[in-house]
Amino acid sequence: MWVDINVHLELMSASTESVNQATNASSVNFIATGTHPDQWRWLVGRTRHLAFGLHPQYAAVSSDWFSLLEQYLGSHPGSAMGEVGLDFRPHMPAREIQQRVFENQLALAKELDRPVIIHAVKSHTEVISTLKRVGLNRFVIHAFLGSEDIAVAYLTLGGYLSAGGLMTRTPRPRALDVFRNMPTHRLLLETDAPDLPMTEMVESSPEHLPMIGRSLAADLGISVPALEQLSYSNACVLFDHDFSQ
Ligand SMILES: [Zn+2]
Repeated sequence: MWVDINVHLELMSASTESVNQATNASSVNFIATGTHPDQWRWLVGRTRHLAFGLHPQYAAVSSDWFSLLEQYLGSHPGSAMGEVGLDFRPHMPAREIQQRVFENQLALAKELDRPVIIHAVKSHTEVISTLKRVGLNRFVIHAFLGSEDIAVAYLTLGGYLSAGGLMTRTPRPRALDVFRNMPTHRLLLETDAPDLPMTEMVESSPEHLPMIGRSLAADLGISVPALEQLSYSNACVLFDHDFSQ
């Protein structure tokens, strides 16, 4: 069984029913990651494994999202937090706002002892210092593309790194070396569907995870069943969750 740790079900063009059918047929379980209050509401009741968080792109929303987030996490005891993080590309909200929103959410995750799916773009230094300040060690950096040094910093803090469809592209991404060298018990897999499609695909979908797995297994020099088993057991450990249920 494969586990896709980051799927944006509400953004996919396919219906939830067809995604659920396709993932069942290909032995993929997935975490549906809601990144905005409207998405949290939409996701509940549609699929089994959920994460709730305010994505940095929505960091400037004015609603009382934080108490709503507390409610969603509280009423779904097996849920994770995500995607939350920092994204310092120019079109994103101001850094100070993102920083406050990120840190408040990490503090809540720590208080509730929930694993966190983190989005870090052009912000690894600040994400690492925020994790240290909050003292949070249950987290995964989704779609990791950073350097060996940055990977070591996250791994030292207790974090996991997630590989996705970008690892299948040509030219071969440099982050493949990070995944080759890291401890396999900290490796997770994702599609980030519908984003980050594999080469020659328009949209990704969680049932593509075994294809990503086959490509990555070849690059890592391990067997496909071994990577499938890792994707399952590592996800069960970080998320403290039995994905076969
Ligand atoms: Zn992201």
